[in-house]
Amino acid sequence: MHIPIPENLPSTILPIKAFKDNYIWIIIQNNYAVIVDPGESIQVIEFIEKNNIYPEAILITHKHFDHIDGVKKLIARYPNIKVYGPAKSKFDFRYKSVQENDILVMNKSKLKYKVIEIPGHTLDHVAYLDSDLIFCGDTLFGCGCGKLFEGTAKQMFNSLQKIKTLKATTKIYCGHEYTLNNIRFAMTEEVNNLDLSARYQRTLNQNITLPTILSEELATNPFLRAADSNELKNIRGRKDAF
Ligand SMILES: [Zn+2]
Repeated sequence: MHIPIPENLPSTILPIKAFKDNYIWIIIQNNYAVIVDPGESIQVIEFIEKNNIYPEAILITHKHFDHIDGVKKLIARYPNIKVYGPAKSKFDFRYKSVQENDILVMNKSKLKYKVIEIPGHTLDHVAYLDSDLIFCGDTLFGCGCGKLFEGTAKQMFNSLQKIKTLKATTKIYCGHEYTLNNIRFAMTEEVNNLDLSARYQRTLNQNITLPTILSEELATNPFLRAADSNELKNIRGRKDAF
């Protein structure tokens, strides 16, 4: 008997580890997959083939090698895969460029994402939003934020303000597992923050700390809590000094 797969099943999002502490996020819906920031390809291909999934698209948040180096091999293996990347970068593989407020609709999986531009870590940086989640690459981390490789503290501050306007229940899928070290640093910034010490205790034994939730970041992330770009710049400076 053939039982059709219903199209409204909730999607599953899984982390695939890459390099030392990168996460490649894979969203699976109705047997189709969307892959976020494949810095490597081998483990992605292995996962796709083991689970018999059809890879529909790749979403790129920014140009750093640890987020894109797997793209060419994935295109070679899956010639029909669609690739979306920020308009402010030039990549040497085929892709469709995306910018602020673009809406991406995946034909097969029906997954839908809105693009927002969040420069700071790099100038090309974008995030992909669904109704209750965001893939934010290296802009916001668990209890931290990305280094300012290209942008200014003001740009990063404005980008973080954009993320702050999302629903407090928004799940945040970051590009790296930095949470525990970030919490240790944050505890030196906010010595009396009880939410932060509770988060530290809870995180100590967690292997994977992501996704995090915006409400938790609002309570504990000193970069998100900074009142202005100067404060953000000062906190960033102290963290880099570690
Ligand atoms: Zn990066």
